[in-house]
Amino acid sequence: MRKHIVAGNWKMNTLPAEGVELAKGVAAGCAAVPASVNLIVCPPFTHLSQVAEALKGSAIAVGAQNCAAEAKGAYTGEVAASMIAALGCKYVILGHSERRQYYGETSETLNKKMEQAYANDLTPIYCVGENLDEREAGKHFEVVKAQIEEVVYNLTAEQFAKLVIAYEPVWAIGTGKTATAEQAQEIHAYIRQVLAAKFGAAAAECPILYGGSCKPSNAAEIFAKEDVDGGLIGGAALKAEDFLAIGNGFAE
Ligand code: PEP
Repeated sequence: MRKHIVAGNWKMNTLPAEGVELAKGVAAGCAAVPASVNLIVCPPFTHLSQVAEALKGSAIAVGAQNCAAEAKGAYTGEVAASMIAALGCKYVILGHSERRQYYGETSETLNKKMEQAYANDLTPIYCVGENLDEREAGKHFEVVKAQIEEVVYNLTAEQFAKLVIAYEPVWAIGTGKTATAEQAQEIHAYIRQVLAAKFGAAAAECPILYGGSCKPSNAAEIFAKEDVDGGLIGGAALKAEDFLAIGNGFAE
């Protein structure tokens, strides 16, 4: 059985004290979420350490929202994967559409970031997804295929066994528009097929999360689909109650 994962991407939100309070709220309520669901929170870099400390001993894992493409050195403003790992983080989100769109992240950069993540024992949550024009032009399949072929296909079988993928249609992120459960299933199944073309049977084990305006009211319907293994949650992850309710979207 594939892992079920609900990961919160806090983006550039919360000051340290607010982040710690939010994390504690998630920890306080997580016993109500099925034990089979892996909860992850991804705060800003500035309070990764405090949130990791606050969650010590809980079942909730901590991830970063990005990492540097290089190991260390003269890269002003960057944060190395080794630094993230040293704080007790287990995950790193890579290739989020906001980073591709606003910070020009390319597959070339992402290949280097993936290497850094694996070298430091971080599990990448690799994001793929098409924008609205691409969806309307019927190009969503080819867009996600290229995003996978250009990066994920470069992984070894051992690395792939640790990978988490998040399908996030850009037109659904922060817009309140959610892909229908059927649209999510259709493309998740396709992604799994693209993964299987390279990695064979191991593709059946890769968790593929849905992201894009996922909330307590729609999570259960989306998570019920065969190839949807959880969610990457933005806005709704900023309220412990909503994040936990999404975690409860899995039927036990
Ligand atoms: C995201 O950016 O990862 C995301 C899914 O955001 P939201 O849930 O706010 O659409």
